[in-house]
Amino acid sequence: MPKLVYDFTEGNKDLKDLLGGKGANLAEMTNLGLPVPPGFIITTEACRYYLEQGSTPAGLDEEIAAHLDQLESAMGRKLGDPADPLLVSVRSGAKFSMPGMMETVLNIGLSDESVQGLAKQAGNERFAWDAYRRLLQMFGKTVLDIDGEHFEHAIDEAKRAKGVRNDLDLDAGDLQGLVETFKGIISTQAGRDFPQDPSQQLDLAIKAVFNSWNAPRAILYRRQERIPADLGTAVNVVAMVFGNLGMDSGTGVAFTRDPGTGAQGVYGDYLQNAQGEDVVAGIRNTVPLQDLEGIDKASYDQLMQIMRTLENHYRDLCDIEFTIERGKLWMLQTRVGKRTAAAAFRIAMQLVDQGLIDMDEAVRRVSGEELARLMFPRFDTSAAVTKIATGISASPGAAVGKAVFDPDDLHGMIAAQGILTSRGGKTSHAAVVARGMGKTCVCGAEELEVDTKARRFGAPGGVTVNEGDMISIDGTSGVIYSGEVPVVSSAVVRYFEGELHPHSDEADDLIRAVHAIMHHADQVRRLGVHANADNGPDCARARRFGAGGVGLVRTEHMFLGERRQLVEDLILADTEEERQRALDALEPLQKGDFVEILDAMDGLPVTIRLIDPPLHEFLPDLTELSVKIALAGDQATDKDKELLAAVRRLHEQNPMLGLRGVRLGLVIPGLTDMQVRAIAHAAAELKQAGKDPQPEVMIPLTATVQEMEISREHAEKMLRQVEEGTGTHVHTLIGTMIEVPRAALNAGPIAASAEFFSFGTNDLTQMTWGFSRDDVEGAFFSKYIELGIFGVSPFETIDRDGVGRLVDIAVREGRAARPDLHLGVCGEHGGDPESVHFFHEVGLDYVSCSPFRVPIARLEAGRAALAAGGSDSR
Ligand code: PEP
Ligand code: MG
Repeated sequence: MPKLVYDFTEGNKDLKDLLGGKGANLAEMTNLGLPVPPGFIITTEACRYYLEQGSTPAGLDEEIAAHLDQLESAMGRKLGDPADPLLVSVRSGAKFSMPGMMETVLNIGLSDESVQGLAKQAGNERFAWDAYRRLLQMFGKTVLDIDGEHFEHAIDEAKRAKGVRNDLDLDAGDLQGLVETFKGIISTQAGRDFPQDPSQQLDLAIKAVFNSWNAPRAILYRRQERIPADLGTAVNVVAMVFGNLGMDSGTGVAFTRDPGTGAQGVYGDYLQNAQGEDVVAGIRNTVPLQDLEGIDKASYDQLMQIMRTLENHYRDLCDIEFTIERGKLWMLQTRVGKRTAAAAFRIAMQLVDQGLIDMDEAVRRVSGEELARLMFPRFDTSAAVTKIATGISASPGAAVGKAVFDPDDLHGMIAAQGILTSRGGKTSHAAVVARGMGKTCVCGAEELEVDTKARRFGAPGGVTVNEGDMISIDGTSGVIYSGEVPVVSSAVVRYFEGELHPHSDEADDLIRAVHAIMHHADQVRRLGVHANADNGPDCARARRFGAGGVGLVRTEHMFLGERRQLVEDLILADTEEERQRALDALEPLQKGDFVEILDAMDGLPVTIRLIDPPLHEFLPDLTELSVKIALAGDQATDKDKELLAAVRRLHEQNPMLGLRGVRLGLVIPGLTDMQVRAIAHAAAELKQAGKDPQPEVMIPLTATVQEMEISREHAEKMLRQVEEGTGTHVHTLIGTMIEVPRAALNAGPIAASAEFFSFGTNDLTQMTWGFSRDDVEGAFFSKYIELGIFGVSPFETIDRDGVGRLVDIAVREGRAARPDLHLGVCGEHGGDPESVHFFHEVGLDYVSCSPFRVPIARLEAGRAALAAGGSDSR
């Protein structure tokens, strides 16, 4: 086995895979000369071995013993020594931060004997019994799997008996009593006594932390955050320092910048006479970090100095946990901190302005997902609103929904529109998790009296909100409203719309940051970004949002509404003349649409796909029509009967695998011709008007080169006819979608007849997996995600191993057959951040997505081009 345990002096921040984020950063701080309590790290490799084999790897116990020896000599005390015990904490710490999802046990080394020694050494009986009480509670919950409620009830009971509300009002005698109660709970619930041997405590705590990697909430969190399931956690064993030794001690958390807005300054919370878990658990309310200056100026000044050192060293926002033990400052943790989307953009540009990072790095430091969050709407507070309370703004956004009371439920948080808590600061777990998920969050709304049992809360002025009542919470201002508050669009959207100029007075530093970063992303990206749009206004918006063309016009969308009747006539036509009449009626309408679209995208390519869906989509529903005719009896019209016959004739068991796509054009005479003529006439008209139309004709659902060749011949003939008729030549590419696995596997021959490919990854995913795109996501994907079969729907993020391989084959074989083959994607994946990276890597020329996702795709295309690096705040 390789080395399994590292002293803090042996690690550094780049060893996160092996030492976890917490351990690697503790090592980094140790090496920077910052005041970190001595300690060592058991590697993730040891954890993985333990989880796979069910036993610790050979040599681990010896390595731990050697490092413990070293720790004991550094501290001049022995673990659990009855006279003067060294105590240690055992903390989880995976590669990616998973706040509050795994376990920690503090005060390892205390026993019935050593608690007396601790009391004597600290000169504080109450402190020693409180420390022992905490150990029993955490050990009971974490190591022995006892329901925490037992301990909490006992504490509540002790407070009730004494007639006090605050934990701090329990004295040494009360706590000593609680220790006895807790030991009793452990014996009854776990069927064993609390181990008095400190090395046995340490051993069991380490294994419990290993096991907490697979705690249900940790598993759920990883799936949600797409953290791989097989990383394992490192375990940090650290000498205890105490923030609960009196009012000259305390504990806090700090950010080097505001993680909510990005503003520079002092942000954090401090709690006197407390241990770390009290702050993050949101049990007691904290004071703002600024107040520490008045409480302990020397520690405050030292902390400010350390924060500057860390920011300059990490070149990013850092968050910090610290403890002050009798006036001595200790750093317990740092990491590149999670932040809101707005803060991410602002901070990236601030760091550029400070000369700490360059623009490439600024682009890497933000993400398409964050940009999407900035495009969310906000509350319109000019409307009549009823404000019921104000809390701390912990994660911005505007959330409206029904109140549901789920104090600790991660499932509930995932399902929620927004999260509201009455306790805890910006750094409470609820707030950290909400920010990570991009959910609106207001925390620490102390004015609210929450009654989780009765499932309601009361607010000042006698307001009561029951479960199911509508409330609105503003994560940007912290205000809570009753009822539904109307929402308005975001300033970032107004910027993309061209309504808000980045250099105007109205624009703030966020808009300027978005502008600068988008501009740089556009400069570095290789991928083009086109839009899927079916009408003039959508095309115009796509263009304002930065689309370089339209990658997919779904022409069938033009056949809806009143025009459906014309398609019905076409389908029902019995004779050549009837069919022609229907086509003749449709053609000018189609041409009008194409003029509008090509005009809106003047000078840019517009890929127009010929009609694709199964014909029955244009006809009435079989059951509804049958019922209508049955009910009408003798009164049923001939037209309806004829229609019913046609609906029956065209009915398909699997319409998605039926008469659709290229097959329609080949089976219904005149359909392809009509559509291509409409395109060609629209383009000729615009060209004659001095414009620069760039239409492309796209054949859907092709599986063989023969389909492509026949369609192409028809299209070319029509283009020629229109050119001759109008005397106007418009260069028009003819290509195909690749959305059937067979087409991907025959891309070479098909490319001989197609000037471009556009990957229809919606259908390609459906057909590769054999999943109906219309049914399965609602039917069983949540189960599949729960079972870990995939982390995210393959309809959302491209399945690299299956669908992605088909794309890769088609790209390579297509390009080999036709080197100038133009390649794009127009399935939903074209606007998905992770998929955009794949399309960049596989060598497509562009991605195409809905207009609103165009900015996201532009940014991700830039990030893909810059590849590795970026923020590691995850
Ligand atoms: C596709 O299949 O990916 C595609 C873009 O076509 P549609 O979604 O219209 O079937
Ligand atoms: Mg398709």
